[in-house]
Amino acid sequence: MVAAAAEQVVAGLREECATPAGRLDEVAAAMAEEMAAGLAEEGGSKVKMIVSYVDSLPNGSEEGLFYALDLGGTNFRVLRVQLAGKEKRVVKRESREVSIPRHLMSGNSSELFGFIALALAKFVHDEGHNTLFDNKQRELGFTFSFPVRQTSIASGTLIKWTKAFSIDDAVGEDVVAELQMAMEKQGLDMRVSALINDTVGTLAAGSYYDEDVVVGVILGTGSNAAYLEKASAIPKLEGELPKSGNMVINTEWGNFSSPCLPLTEYDEALDKESLNPGEQIFEKLISGMYLGEIVRRVLLKISLQSSIFGNVDQTKLKSHFILRTPDISAMHHDQTPDLKIVAEKLADNLKIIDTSLETRKMVVEICDIVTRRSARLAAAGIVGILRKIGRGNPNDKRKSVIAIDGGLYEHYTEFRQCLESTLTELIGEEASRSVTVKLANDGSGLGAALIAAAHSQYLK
Ligand code: ADP
Ligand code: MG
Repeated sequence: MVAAAAEQVVAGLREECATPAGRLDEVAAAMAEEMAAGLAEEGGSKVKMIVSYVDSLPNGSEEGLFYALDLGGTNFRVLRVQLAGKEKRVVKRESREVSIPRHLMSGNSSELFGFIALALAKFVHDEGHNTLFDNKQRELGFTFSFPVRQTSIASGTLIKWTKAFSIDDAVGEDVVAELQMAMEKQGLDMRVSALINDTVGTLAAGSYYDEDVVVGVILGTGSNAAYLEKASAIPKLEGELPKSGNMVINTEWGNFSSPCLPLTEYDEALDKESLNPGEQIFEKLISGMYLGEIVRRVLLKISLQSSIFGNVDQTKLKSHFILRTPDISAMHHDQTPDLKIVAEKLADNLKIIDTSLETRKMVVEICDIVTRRSARLAAAGIVGILRKIGRGNPNDKRKSVIAIDGGLYEHYTEFRQCLESTLTELIGEEASRSVTVKLANDGSGLGAALIAAAHSQYLK
């Protein structure tokens, strides 16, 4: 028997995390409403609805050699692609991934950009002799996945850091200028021709291969979404309307919050003790940086209130972020009859040893509750966007494809399946026949290169 006190904690969690369709409907409606408010005027909503200055999506005709730099979470990636037009598309693609040392995430701006520029310079050096493009300055699309007030396609000031980043002297600065300066210090002759968010990159790369892609979503360390909006539906858009009549909007939905969100004591404590209290509430409920941490907090409470973990040294259990989302994913998918993987993860990460099978089953249920809530809320967010643009309903016959990138969606099968089935549950069988979700693997990097190509200085 799992001790009653522990069962009570789990029962409370189950109840508070419940996301019946009616509640998700409210979430979707609130999301659509906040989106409209954010488009109406600057500062109109917590959902910032940032104008990306990308007014058309790639169509396949892009040509040339382009670089991309993708900075957003735990790693950054550099990418080099050779684009060869409609028929041949991407003929060559090389990339390198570098993990960002923790101390650089909260140091100063020049150290971070110096580190990035150095890695980029090494990567560019490896291109070697390239007679085809020798006389041209190299161009780069910069994917920077934090809220930026964009001032043109290739400039923007950092509004605030999110996720694990907190570098005070970068806030309010133009991140392209910072990068450009660091590149010059490395003697790297390269032009940043586009600054984009990873959601915009995912949307762009998605639509490069499939013109029905209208929404790009990130479910990785953080969470965010971008979509193609009609320029006429953006009252805050200043100056001349783009010729295409469209504009890509980076929603920054991670900062969405609403009384209809199912928040628990664990979420409230996590938020209060985070680097950005009061902010990114939606992100803290759904993204990969936080799911493991929520589970850890539940396990700690159980350990404080019951003896089912035995006489455990709580040092580990009390360490923030020691249980990561890949760990809860591994436990959640454990198919061994005696839940051996759960036992291993508990022992290795939290020093919880000698658990009964029943206790391990309870741990799996906790992972399930937290992840299910996350996936269902993410689905509700997507439905909110579809509603905003009048798609995904029985009266709309157009195909709508949602491109999703990020390690959480890519690797966490239970999460992915739950998100997809919830989408169908919310929009109904009929409408769901014209709505597809697909993985856009590393779309953010390719998308940046594609947008850089569309804004190349060598285009007539
Ligand atoms: P980023 O969001 O940093 O750009 P990714 O898109 O690769 O990077 O996502 C990385 C995140 O995905 C990790 O922080 C983690 O939360 C989540 N993740 C990675 N692997 C797994 C996994 N096997 N199961 C669940 N989540 C995972
Ligand atoms: Mg990413």
